[in-house]
Amino acid sequence: MKKMLSLTLALALVVAMLCGCGSTEKGLTVKDGVLTMATNAYFPPYEYYEGSEIVGIDAEIAGAIATKLGLKLEIQDMEFDSIITSVQTGKADMGLAGMTVTDERLQMINFSNTYATGVQVVIVPEDSDIASIDDLAGKKIGVQLATTGDIYACDDFGAENVEEYNKGNDAVLALTQGKIDAVIIDNEPAKNYVAANEGLKILETEYVTEDYAACINKSNTELLDQINKALEELKADGTIDAILEKYISAE
Ligand code: GLN
Repeated sequence: MKKMLSLTLALALVVAMLCGCGSTEKGLTVKDGVLTMATNAYFPPYEYYEGSEIVGIDAEIAGAIATKLGLKLEIQDMEFDSIITSVQTGKADMGLAGMTVTDERLQMINFSNTYATGVQVVIVPEDSDIASIDDLAGKKIGVQLATTGDIYACDDFGAENVEEYNKGNDAVLALTQGKIDAVIIDNEPAKNYVAANEGLKILETEYVTEDYAACINKSNTELLDQINKALEELKADGTIDAILEKYISAE
C-alpha cells in the first residue's frame, strides 16, 4: 500500500514537472518569458516597417500587453493567410493584424475582446465610373488574400471577378497599373495607400464595418484571459486611445 502511494506521488510529480515546463511564473503557456505575435507587416497604420523595426497600432498594443504580463514581445512577420495557422500550431502565441472577428475564424481560434473598429472601403482611380458599391458588379476587384474584403467580394460579386494578392500594397499597385478596377481593403490602410499613390480615391460609401481583436490558440484560455484583462486595463487607463490617436489622424 505504501509502495503504491509513493508510486502515485512520484507519478504526480513527473506530471507536474512536465506541465510546468514551458510555462512562466504566471502560469501562462508561453515559452521563455517571450510573447510571440504573428502579423503581416504591410498594413499601415496597424503594422508596418520603419527601417527594420515593425511599428504601428498592433505592435504598440501588443507591446503594452506584454509589459503588463511581464513578458518580452517578439513579432513574427508572415503572410496574412498564415497567421491563424501559426497560432493554431503554437508557432506564435497570438495574432494581431487588424484582424476582424468572424464566425468562421472563431471555429479555428479564440478572439480577445475587441480593441478597434475597422471599415471595409473601396479604392478606385480618381476618374473611375465606379461611384457606389453596386457599380462594382462585373468589375475586376483586387483584395488581400484570405481577408474579410476577399470573402465579402467573392460572396457579393463572384470569385471570378476577384483578384487575390498576398499584400495589400500589391493590390494597390495593380490598381495604379490599370490591371484591376478597384481594391476592397480596410479604411486606415486605404487612407495610407491613397496618400502614397497619385490618382486614387476612396468611395464615400462604406462597405462593411467590423471589429478587430487578437487571436489566440483555442486551448490557451489562460493567455486569452490574461490578454483580455490587460486590454481592459489599457482601455481604462487611456493607453489604447492614446495609441489609436497617435497613428490615426482625426479628420
Ligand atoms: N480586417 C481584415 C481581415 O481581418 C484585413 C486584415 C489584414 O489584411 N491585415 O480580414
